[in-house]
Amino acid sequence: MKTFISIILLLSLLSCSELKEYIRKHSKHSNTIVSSSIDPSSSENIDAKTSEMKKEIKTAADTDQSIKTLPRKKKVFMIKKPILSAKVSKYCNLIDKKFYLYGWGKSYCKDYQWNHVRSSHLGRPLIWLTYGNEQEHKKISKNMTMIFCTVHGDEITPTRFCFDIIEDLNKRIQNPLLKEEFKDLLIVVAPIVNPDSFFKKYPTRTNFRKVDVNRNFPTKDWKKSAIKLWKKKYRSDRRRFPGFKALSEQETIFQVNLIKRYKPNKIISVHAPLTIIDYDGPHKKRAKNANQLLIQMSNDASGYKIKDYPFFTGSLGNWAGNERHIPTYTLELPTSDNRKSKKYWNRFKEAIRSAVKSDLNKDLNVADGESTEKLNSKKSL
Ligand SMILES: [Zn+2]
Repeated sequence: MKTFISIILLLSLLSCSELKEYIRKHSKHSNTIVSSSIDPSSSENIDAKTSEMKKEIKTAADTDQSIKTLPRKKKVFMIKKPILSAKVSKYCNLIDKKFYLYGWGKSYCKDYQWNHVRSSHLGRPLIWLTYGNEQEHKKISKNMTMIFCTVHGDEITPTRFCFDIIEDLNKRIQNPLLKEEFKDLLIVVAPIVNPDSFFKKYPTRTNFRKVDVNRNFPTKDWKKSAIKLWKKKYRSDRRRFPGFKALSEQETIFQVNLIKRYKPNKIISVHAPLTIIDYDGPHKKRAKNANQLLIQMSNDASGYKIKDYPFFTGSLGNWAGNERHIPTYTLELPTSDNRKSKKYWNRFKEAIRSAVKSDLNKDLNVADGESTEKLNSKKSL
């Protein structure tokens, strides 16, 4: 009898603690994380917790309405499992944690065959993906698009945006109906150019060494003007420090090397929150298609504002667009609010699809060294 009572007591205690544990976990899971300044260290063992939660939710499926608030899950189509180095695989775990914190669901990072050569100052891999045949592109120039995201680490939405591009490309490239469309394309996507600042507890614009990566490109006027302009025009604004010399940062070298290796016909760099599309590159008289694409992208995104934002000493727009005549589109998303990433993808996905498809090869017959003018936005609208 004594044993029987002990068992009953033990069972009731157990069920009570289980119930508490369920409520604790469940209420935690239902919270949508909105702040960009949440301590990532609080997310230890998120993967294990997530799978535990999934099991619980499966059993409670019909009775639990809050299941609707779960992070979205998308089906990713992959032909074969990629082979990733231990370093990249570990980095994917870090990305997944950040995605979870921002309420973005899974990144599917480990489903992709990443390229990795160079790492950031803190040793994080500067990764990129390629779609299409690079070897063929070396023989006959293909329609090559290069896409950069998270150049400034405190601009949160572009990170998810690049992963949305990647998911979209993976699905579309395997669609037999789109086979022709992808036949002559080569695409590079580098989703996190500046990981050291993106993964900070409080993300910053500048990288770990406090340099603005988008002022560190080796433009012709860098030596003469970069520091001088920064002191005078920007009153030594720490957020825009160009570095002590051009091309001093791993993140800048990374972008320059990708551009030199793949020789893109166009570049798209995604930022936030200026709410514009800016173009740097050959003048529209010599680059009709490039200008048409600018208008197309705006139209695809329900008339998104085109603005002729000035380029800067040491910026990508200046180095690639102005000096190397590569049409360079800077898409500035409206905010850095992680909750709006899905909305932005829906708004801009057609613009990205148009950009990737658009063949600007014919535009690029501009003689090297020929001076280029900035596109007049008033005329282009
Ligand atoms: Zn930016």
